[in-house]
Parts: sequence; structure tokens; C-alpha cells
Amino acid sequence: MRAGWLGLALAAAVMIAAPALAAVRVVAATTDMAALVAAVGGEHVAVETIVPAATDPEAFEPRPGDIDKVRHANLLVRVGLGYDFWLDTLLAQVGDKRLMRGGEGYVDASVGIPLLEIRGQSVVNEGGHAHGVANPHYWLDPGNAIIVTAGIVEALARVAPAERDAFVTNRERFLAELEVRRKRWDESLAPFAGVKLIAYHNSWPYFARRFRLDIVDFVEPKPGVAPSPAHLAHLIAEGRKAGVRAIVHEPYEPEDASRLLAQKLGIPFVRLATSVGSVPHTEDYFALLELNVTTLARALGARPQ
Ligand SMILES: [Zn+2]
Repeated sequence: MRAGWLGLALAAAVMIAAPALAAVRVVAATTDMAALVAAVGGEHVAVETIVPAATDPEAFEPRPGDIDKVRHANLLVRVGLGYDFWLDTLLAQVGDKRLMRGGEGYVDASVGIPLLEIRGQSVVNEGGHAHGVANPHYWLDPGNAIIVTAGIVEALARVAPAERDAFVTNRERFLAELEVRRKRWDESLAPFAGVKLIAYHNSWPYFARRFRLDIVDFVEPKPGVAPSPAHLAHLIAEGRKAGVRAIVHEPYEPEDASRLLAQKLGIPFVRLATSVGSVPHTEDYFALLELNVTTLARALGARPQ
């Protein structure tokens, strides 16, 4: 009886979902790009993500199923800047010109972003962690979502021109809510302008610039490299001297060094979310920023022990 009812409900759901309008199949490199595509595409898109939410995207290696996701896509949205360099191999394997650089279904979401920590193009990718061209963590500045969604609307309208108005309207709705939330986020972190922090990985320059935080150093001596005892001793001395107020930590990195440092300095260890879905309660783009702002404000607002 119960199974029969469920079967009927599922059949009904499938019928409703079966699109009269052809959905655009989008493959996004990360959950953040997927969330922004979903916000703009709404019911007209079916989005798949390649990098799982709670893993280190810069140490990611594609799995066998990923090539199928790319093969079936009409549109591909990547972070760019070397962050998802492994996509180039997948794209070459699929060989679909529309999804390759310059194709109508290709979006490098970093285009138009005012980049931070720009380095020479000659810097080669050293293993999994690529901060080669510039720092790639730009989606953590909510201001950059305006630029990214503009590029996504243009790309969606290229592959599904009949739905252009819907994409534009969805983006306007998204931006209206973003503006309201940004006012609140600015207010929440305004009391902490200029506060000094140490982060595990260099994930936060865009977030920090937006909210006027000062990240003075990193637990990793360079991206992807674990700290030596000497580096930790240096960070303890530096943290004391600079009056660092919290250790900011990424969800997928080993915690020992960050926790030790926080303990030695008598300051909070604060786990922030680097991506949508990387910690609980970050199910979409707004929730990601909301969690980071409120978690940090709460940690900094607490009296030092
Ligand atoms: Zn990084």
C-alpha cells in the first residue's frame, strides 16, 4: 500500500519534472559555481558538480564518472585560475568543442573578477595546489557573485536563448536578496575591521578585503605544505606580536597545527566554510556567506580567555 502510494507519487513527480522546456544540462567544477548557476538558472537548468563539497578542490583528481558528466553537459562552468586545471584533461578527453575555451558552452567564471595576488603567468602548477595565476578563492567575496552571475546569465542565454528573460529575472531576484544580506554582513563584521587573523590556507583574501580583516600569515608555509615545528614557533611569536585574534581553519585540512596555535595564543579556533556544502548549513551561496560571517563575528565577539 505504502510502496504503491510512493510509486504513484514518484510517477507524478517525474511527470511534473519531465520538462516541456528543454533543461540546460550544466556541469560545474565546484559546489559554489553550481550554487550560482542554480540561483540564476532556476527550473531551466539541471546542475551537476564535479568536486564533492567537503574535499580539497585543489588536491582533487577526477573519477571515472566525471567524464560522463562533462560528456552530457550543454554548459560547463569552472573556477579558472588554475584551481580546476584537471578539467582541461577531462575536456580534451570528451573533445566537445562547444565546452572548450572559446566555445559557446564554456564559462571561466574568473573572467572580469578583480583578481588578488596576481603572479606571473610563468609560474607553473606545483602538484595539486595551484595559486599560479592569482588567488582563486574569489567567490568568498559576495561582491564577486554579481560578476560571476552576469557571466552565467550570458552563457545560459547563449545555449537556451528562449529563456533569456527568465535568467535575467532570476539574477535580479538573486541580486536583490544579496544586497539586503550584504548590508547585514557588513554590519556584523564592521566592529572587527582591521582585526588580525592567521588562516590555515590562503583561502580568504577576497573575503578579508571585503570585510576589512587582516590575515597576517598562514599555518601552511605555502599552499598544500604542512607546517614544520619551526614555522609554528614563528607563527606563535608573530601571533603574539601582532595581536592575532583568531585562527581561521578550512573544513578539509588537518586541525592539529591550527588548534595548537590557537591554544598557545589563547584565541579561538574558527572553522569557516570554503565552499557551499563544505560544512553543515551551507546549502546555497547565501548560506555559505551567512555562516562565515556569523561564525567569525561570534568568535571575535567573545572575550579572549
Ligand atoms: Zn587555495
